[in-house]
Amino acid sequence: MSLAPYACHPDLSLGRRFAQPPAPTRTEFQRDRDRIVHSTAFRRLVYKTQVFLNHEGDLFRTRLTHSLEVAQLGRSMARSLDLNEDLVEAIALAHDLGHTPFGHAGQDALNACMQPFGGFEHNLQSLRVVDALEERYPEFDGLNLCFETREGILKHCSAINAQVLEQLEPGGVGQRFLARTQPSLEAQLCNLADEIAYNAHDIDDGVRSGLITLAQLQQVPLVDDFRRQILAEFPTLGERSQGRRLLYETIRRMLSAQVYDVVAASGQALQQAGPVDVGAVRQLPALIQFSEAMAARSHVLKTFLLHELYRHPRVMDTTRLAQQVVRDLFAFYQAQPAEMTEGFSARSAALAGTAGEAPARARVVADYIAGMTDRFATREHERLSGQRLLP
Ligand code: MG
Repeated sequence: MSLAPYACHPDLSLGRRFAQPPAPTRTEFQRDRDRIVHSTAFRRLVYKTQVFLNHEGDLFRTRLTHSLEVAQLGRSMARSLDLNEDLVEAIALAHDLGHTPFGHAGQDALNACMQPFGGFEHNLQSLRVVDALEERYPEFDGLNLCFETREGILKHCSAINAQVLEQLEPGGVGQRFLARTQPSLEAQLCNLADEIAYNAHDIDDGVRSGLITLAQLQQVPLVDDFRRQILAEFPTLGERSQGRRLLYETIRRMLSAQVYDVVAASGQALQQAGPVDVGAVRQLPALIQFSEAMAARSHVLKTFLLHELYRHPRVMDTTRLAQQVVRDLFAFYQAQPAEMTEGFSARSAALAGTAGEAPARARVVADYIAGMTDRFATREHERLSGQRLLP
């Protein structure tokens, strides 16, 4: 792997919170990637929803397949830009670890429940998973990942939470949200890879589920230009039986075009800005980017997906039920913390009579719910309410 001077070099890492001797055969970022893959939260991603709930079909994306696609796109762009592929992979595989069950519906409901107690942000929760919630090492909580991996995982953070982080870890991963600086190029790249991945796979899942059609997508040039190009080259793909092939080839070309665009536009921005190292990168504006034309095309696609897919009446119906499950679970455990599994109920009980007991206990409940898979949350809701809201 050839690394540009502005890439993150594993030997120059800002380090782990608990010092550990280097591994004999792996770089520090490869080691982070391995720790993430072996974590409990990573395995649960397979049963967590992206847009479609698990029970709606076996062929739709889950958070696990989404994370793998982000890693694949991210690595491929990182290689072209001489950035650190291993770090990109580690960030990509961890970026959604803090997601609640039921996708954004679950996260919004949990955030609403947590409003009196400091709110709930899924990026911050992903950091909490790798910093505190994984219990795998005798000497410390969490996975003890490198600064650069944690910096990439914390994609967004509100100013209020950044202040809390900054108090706990001065000059740490919260600081850039206060100083309004950028993260490493590898972290920037993961953000864009995330966006490219979900735009593409949501079209795929959306069309295959029948909620949107390729005909509707004629209003989206980023998709339709390729559809027309392909039909001109392969007229038989216009036949009904060839719909899948047309869809996949359209998405494949769209993905390639976006990847090449990011590599070209970011390569140019890097050349112009000429950062000497990752320290300089952090002080500059974001350099990993689409060209202006591609950014505009991608925006049209996102707007389309928002209106036609994410707010589709059928998606909204399950969204409402999923939110009720999360709200009910939160109320149950707040009233009866002993109903949570042992580790969580013990954490809650230990807080009795301490300063800040109420928000701390609510946070235990939020951690517990956020860690659930769609299926577990649905069953647990049925156990506690006697009512099965989702299949
Ligand atoms: Mg994501």
